[in-house]
Amino acid sequence: KGPSDAHEFQAETRQLLDIVAKSLYSEKEVFIREFISNASDALEKLRYLELTGADVLSSDIPLEIHIKTDDSKKTFTVQDTGLGLTKQELIENLGTIAKSGSKAFLEQLKGNSPGNVSSSLIGQFGVGFYSAFMVGDKVDVFTQSYKPDEPAYRWTSDGSGTYEISEAEGVKRGTKIVVHLKGDCYDFSKEDIIQGIVKKYSNFVGVPIFLNGRRANIIQALWMNDPKDITDDMHEEFYRFIANSYDKPRYHMHYKTDAPLNIRALFYVPEYKPTMFDLSREIESSVTLYSRKVMITPNANTILPKWLRFVKGVVDSEDIPLNLSRELLQDSALIRKLRLVLTNRIIKFFIDQAKKDNEKYMKFYEDYGLFFREGIVTTTEQDQREEISKLLRFESSNLPEGERTSLQEYASRMKAGARNIYFLSAPSRHLAETSPYFEALKKKDVEVLFLYEAYDELVLMNLGQFDKKNMRSVENELADDKDDTNAVDSNDKESLVQTEADSLTDWLLSVLTNKVNKIKVTKRLVNHPCIITVQEMGSARHFLRTTLADKS
Ligand code: ADP
Ligand code: MG
Repeated sequence: KGPSDAHEFQAETRQLLDIVAKSLYSEKEVFIREFISNASDALEKLRYLELTGADVLSSDIPLEIHIKTDDSKKTFTVQDTGLGLTKQELIENLGTIAKSGSKAFLEQLKGNSPGNVSSSLIGQFGVGFYSAFMVGDKVDVFTQSYKPDEPAYRWTSDGSGTYEISEAEGVKRGTKIVVHLKGDCYDFSKEDIIQGIVKKYSNFVGVPIFLNGRRANIIQALWMNDPKDITDDMHEEFYRFIANSYDKPRYHMHYKTDAPLNIRALFYVPEYKPTMFDLSREIESSVTLYSRKVMITPNANTILPKWLRFVKGVVDSEDIPLNLSRELLQDSALIRKLRLVLTNRIIKFFIDQAKKDNEKYMKFYEDYGLFFREGIVTTTEQDQREEISKLLRFESSNLPEGERTSLQEYASRMKAGARNIYFLSAPSRHLAETSPYFEALKKKDVEVLFLYEAYDELVLMNLGQFDKKNMRSVENELADDKDDTNAVDSNDKESLVQTEADSLTDWLLSVLTNKVNKIKVTKRLVNHPCIITVQEMGSARHFLRTTLADKS
């Protein structure tokens, strides 16, 4: 054994160590993810070196990660058979932070609480290794470089200010890191706890991970495969795993792109009907975010808009730095971009599915259509709103009962020059067809959409326009009708004469003071004696009134 060298951490590193240990990550367990990721990187690098013909020490040992827990010694150990580190590399990579952002980081540190610092800066630094000091009061690194002439080393530190490097013997190629756990972190020396954490974060890491000799990661990262190599059975199994469910997916969508962002996404829609629980806006997203198969966050609530909460699956993007904090995930430009691209893709996917198999789509729409309505009302992207509206289906006066039309189909049937898409809220087909509102429009021979859910009126009002045509409620149309003069039909023998009509309206006004705005005579009605019109959103207001009354 050679002499042991004492080294001081770079000043910046020392401060950083403190921050990492105290406040960088919201959960301590992520140090395991960081170690596995580093080990996986080391193995990938070695694989690459071998492929490119480098002379590699012990080229026969398999590329693996071994984790060991020792409950009596209170240690946690990760060993990889990767490329290892030379002395110089130990000093450079574990002793310094050689990133250009480090100055800026420390600038931010002054006058900022650590919480603020962590939320604004994580992801810009290679700080994963230091997470060991969140849980350990001493860390030993044993490493043997793949370079045949390099000796092996032991690097050791308590994370307070210095580290030591000495030559070591009996070290296999690669790196073994032993964490001596702090008193309040003994849980990390328990096999069952580590097993859960490895599954959670690193189940899909591409190299085999063994925990105390037994294989710990088993599931293939299906989203990385070529879509045509994935069978329905594989989808089913994978869906059950990620959705924690026993049913099947009714749709799956596999999306890969490298521009403008690197994205590998695999989404599923469950076969089952959404429950009250699924409908609640309080539930967390079932989309898990990965970066290079390493889990970043399990319920990635910001990766899709809330209205797509019925979509389950995974999103993997190399562009997301591994140590991105929860806080940063909320509103980084990257996440917003990802969300926009993915949302547009999903909408397009459903539009295509409706074209491909309308019957299947209608079944899906029955079960999940409510989410699209929510999307129209809640999205802040105008373009997206109109895209979502292409997914809506309504009964209409031109179609037999039970058949539904899309807005596009309605628009294609409109007469040249017509500018309005008409809709009428009614509790049922029968009440819609016999409604005095509908009667008044039927005379003009225009198609009217029948909305049986009060909230649909709210949705279409929100939409405002479709394909440059105005969404127009029948009630509104009647209230604004310019042709309807306040006069009796003098050709109609059975009609009241004008003076009779005037005194009738006067009398009604005196009886209904404060209840009505205006009373006038109309020629539009055929089968109904009178009609009440409301300026705007009559049924929606009724709907709001009843829901508010429910709440109070
Ligand atoms: P990052 O992984 O983002 O670079 P880390 O703090 O996690 O930052 O690791 C710092 C560096 O230490 C790595 O870039 C790598 O060079 C080296 N390193 C860490 N773990 C290992 C390992 N198991 N094998 C080889 N090198 C490692
Ligand atoms: Mg790392």
